[in-house]
Amino acid sequence: MAADRYLSFTGTAPGRFLTRRLGLPQPVPLSRWSPERPALEGTLRHLVAGGGTPAPDLGAVLARTGLKPADDHATAPVAAVVLDATGVRDVTALAGVHAALHPVVRSVAASGRVLVLGAPLDPADHHQAAAQQALEGFTRSLGKEIGRGRTVNLVRLTDPAAAESTLRFLLSPKSAYVSGQVIEVGPTPAAPHPEGPRTALVTGAARGIGAAVAGTLARDGARVVVLDVPSAGADAERLADRLGGTALALDVTAADAADRIAAALPDGLDVLVHNAGVTRDRRLVNMDAARWGSVLDVNLASVLRTTDALLADGALRPGGRIVATASIAGLAGNAGQTNYAASKAGVAGLVRALAPRAREAHGVTVNAVAPGFIETRMTAAVPLFLREAGRRMNSLAQGGRPEDVAETVAWLAHPASGAVNGQVVRVCGQSLLGA
Ligand code: NAD
Repeated sequence: MAADRYLSFTGTAPGRFLTRRLGLPQPVPLSRWSPERPALEGTLRHLVAGGGTPAPDLGAVLARTGLKPADDHATAPVAAVVLDATGVRDVTALAGVHAALHPVVRSVAASGRVLVLGAPLDPADHHQAAAQQALEGFTRSLGKEIGRGRTVNLVRLTDPAAAESTLRFLLSPKSAYVSGQVIEVGPTPAAPHPEGPRTALVTGAARGIGAAVAGTLARDGARVVVLDVPSAGADAERLADRLGGTALALDVTAADAADRIAAALPDGLDVLVHNAGVTRDRRLVNMDAARWGSVLDVNLASVLRTTDALLADGALRPGGRIVATASIAGLAGNAGQTNYAASKAGVAGLVRALAPRAREAHGVTVNAVAPGFIETRMTAAVPLFLREAGRRMNSLAQGGRPEDVAETVAWLAHPASGAVNGQVVRVCGQSLLGA
């Protein structure tokens, strides 16, 4: 991992002074989850906009986040503001969004959270749809201007209780690098999860993001299977030993990959994380068919093959979770990455189309994370200038860490996240690419 010296420099008094004078980005070191700091520090201000009926039971759900309600002084610092805008049904009611947040936005502490709650767009009421869609532009714009490591996200929900795991994640240090996102949470969870410890398989888990995902799922109580290519076998074994799991040396593009996974897990599987991925960058004019084919095979075709086979033979138990890995390159496009972006956009298509059917037929949810610039060996190999641009071109003005993606995967994989389905959630600090 290449060190982010600029972030360290802006953390010093002279660095802050100089970069401010020059009008350069001012990244703030993010407060991330640690055993010593499992929750945001401070209070939560719960506001309602729009004059409609507030979301039922939202107060009780927010109380369970562990954040104490803020007192009534609008300017006292708070760790988080939750704006219930689910009742906003027309343009006039949008004035309530401004009225609620304008006086308090300044009071949100560094690395704090603004969480806007909206309702699903009503196709039979274009006034409601316009007002609710307006919240999306509002959220994304506030995310870009708020600064100081603060994040702004929008959750569209009908039942706060079904969205509890999502609200807890977004109101915790685990979501430090998730900003500018619009997440839809359905009213009905998938099949309840069977009791007992869960088994999770993570592909490409010997290093980088996959290793962090395996570690985070193990922290949350799963028995993990660390899958990676045979040449990474020693690293996979070491990690599996450390996490009390097992290693599986396997190339996910092998024709019998799904059979070998099923054979290694005779009791079935609860969480399948498709993380293995490769890049073979060239502009299309210089890209031969082998470069194209290998990236499409690892990043997309193998994901489709193993998903289909493990669902069909019932290896994924009811209440199971599939989390695939897309990329912001797949959402925004990137010069030199036609193969990679095609494969990652394909992942997003797979997730959206399969999610409702997988829930219906198997009680399994299907979601994806789309990482932005994450500090790993993959991005350390990017030329310096491009690397620096990638790091800085997001609302938090810094790269993310593998743990940021891992925490997002862990939320999507959580037994309580059954109402989150078909979502592609960017973990990108609100990257300007494809925003
Ligand atoms: P990495 O190169 O550090 O790790 C990828 C892992 O996948 C390696 O351990 C590798 O051995 C394994 N792998 C590759 N091909 C495999 C195969 N055929 N079978 C089994 N394992 C295989 O990459 P990373 O940065 O940790 O990225 C992880 C995922 O996140 C990838 O899907 C990547 O496309 C995606 N992603 C990363 C970033 C980033 O900034 N690092 C951004 C967007 C998306």
